[in-house]
Amino acid sequence: MDVAVFSTKPYDRRFLDAANAAGGGKHRLTYLEARLAPDTAVLARGARAVCAFVNDRADAAALEAFAGMGVRLLALRSAGFNHVDLAAARRLGVTVARVPAYSPEAVAEHTAAMILALNRSIHRAYNRVREGNFALDGLLGFGLKGRTVGIVGTGRIGVAVAQTMLGFGCRVIAQDPYPDAAVEALGVTYTGIPELLAASDIITLHCPLTPETHHLIDADAVRRMRRGVMLINTSRGAIVDTRAVIAGLKLGQIGYLGLDVYEEEADLFFQDLSGKVIQDDIFARLLTFPNVLVTAHQAFFTAEALTAIAETTLANITAFEEAGRALHEVSTEKLA
Ligand code: NAD
Repeated sequence: MDVAVFSTKPYDRRFLDAANAAGGGKHRLTYLEARLAPDTAVLARGARAVCAFVNDRADAAALEAFAGMGVRLLALRSAGFNHVDLAAARRLGVTVARVPAYSPEAVAEHTAAMILALNRSIHRAYNRVREGNFALDGLLGFGLKGRTVGIVGTGRIGVAVAQTMLGFGCRVIAQDPYPDAAVEALGVTYTGIPELLAASDIITLHCPLTPETHHLIDADAVRRMRRGVMLINTSRGAIVDTRAVIAGLKLGQIGYLGLDVYEEEADLFFQDLSGKVIQDDIFARLLTFPNVLVTAHQAFFTAEALTAIAETTLANITAFEEAGRALHEVSTEKLA
């Protein structure tokens, strides 16, 4: 099948080419550096499938362009599908497929890395030592054992985070609209959001971005947290109201902030902007806090995860071509 692959970097090509070759080289992959947007959708002309990543915007205009060009499949290289207008896809007959699970451990381990880096000020210690400053003032950490970790969303990643934090001797509480007995059996206690906000020393977000979770962490939620709380978001940027957490950081209400995702990341992340002036003043303000650690949506970025993403993406495309159905279709039934 002819596939137009948007937002590709050298590492995407490497892993997708390897997976395609392993499957007998069935598909012709055209690699596009451009991000998918209404005005770049036309680059998919001639393709029957489009492959897109997290900051590609598959809105109604892009999907209409695809449908007009004969594109029948949108194969996402991600688990999340909040960037796709599913109602438009359904109306236009474009099947949407995703990679539901590629390496929950990759994101969970990155989450743990952020917690430990912030807690022990590793990000600051690294710079200090390189500059010959071996003083410890300002680097005082706190022990994780016995601390309460609140996990929002106990799906594949949330569970892996729970197991890791239980391993550190933390008490783990969680909120999820679908509590899971197997998660409780691990030693996790489900609570409501107000209790989780009030009781947690560390809050980490692992729910999808939906209308219900948009700005779940807003000014009111920040006020309800323990003073000096650590907040980690490796899920989707818009679950957090960035202005509210900046206000919380300025007041000391939030003591540590770790972000792998950011509401307006599409204009920043996955690019080398080191020679440019950052125009996003809110993001620039975040970078001024000593107790904020930002990574640029790299939690998924391990060899294991990229291999699994490429293999599942190509398996989705092959199944769609051969059987008319992708392996992991995003259900649009509820949108009928
Ligand atoms: P999953 O579908 O296995 O789990 C999501 C969980 O969130 C489910 O248990 C669901 O019931 C729960 N949930 C749904 N609505 C909720 C709400 N309102 N409040 C609390 N919980 C709610 O997904 P996953 O594989 O664990 O991934 C979680 C999220 O992580 C994805 O949606 C994606 O946005 C993000 N993610 C980020 C990266 C990265 O590189 N930073 C990589 C992969 C996934």
